[in-house]
Amino acid sequence: MNIYENKNICAKCGGKCCLEGGCDYLVSDIEEFNIQNFCDLLESGKASIKAILNENEIESKKNIEVILILKSRNINRGAIDLISIETPCSLLTATGCFYPFLKRPGFARHLIPDPNYECYSDLNYKSEYLKWRQYQSVLENIIKEKTGLSKYEEFRKELEEFFYNILHRNFEDASVKSIKEAHFLLNYLKRYYENEYERALINSNSPKLNKKR
Ligand code: SF4
Ligand code: SF4
Repeated sequence: MNIYENKNICAKCGGKCCLEGGCDYLVSDIEEFNIQNFCDLLESGKASIKAILNENEIESKKNIEVILILKSRNINRGAIDLISIETPCSLLTATGCFYPFLKRPGFARHLIPDPNYECYSDLNYKSEYLKWRQYQSVLENIIKEKTGLSKYEEFRKELEEFFYNILHRNFEDASVKSIKEAHFLLNYLKRYYENEYERALINSNSPKLNKKR
């Protein structure tokens, strides 16, 4: 357990990192990998299931692997939030994080506050995200139970909503940085998911941004 907390720097900053979305959990944060444990956390309203996109190459063809992980819940988002425009973390209060430092998700505990707000992490993000691979079936079962859809069906559905909301400028609660990142992601992903992008372009009746499940 590391101890990078610096209340003075973070109080002056006002929680910029938390305003750009909830922090991610490390596999090592989870005490027990069973459905009940995850469901309790999701039903508490403090966490969501999110998708991490891992680009890899199979037989010379680029491919996106969707890895499910847990994150702190963003405001106006539900338990299943695989991909959406980032809004501030719902656990950010007027006096800082709802959680005491050592109870925060690992990606927050490993962020090193910098007096010039060029904060950085000591984690290797990719290797931490890949550790979630072995727990996919538990998270996939929860998605199936809550939505009736498989991981990829749910991801593609949310991706179409994500594209739609960017194209229709539904940026409620999102920071300028989150909006820029959403545009960047749209430009990256539309090459891989042409059908979802095309449908988002033409479908004026797509679901709206703040849908909760
Ligand atoms: S870690 Fe950095 S960005 Fe986050 S609240 Fe502290 S100073 Fe601000
Ligand atoms: S859980 Fe706490 S540290 Fe993590 S993003 Fe939310 S407010 Fe910030």
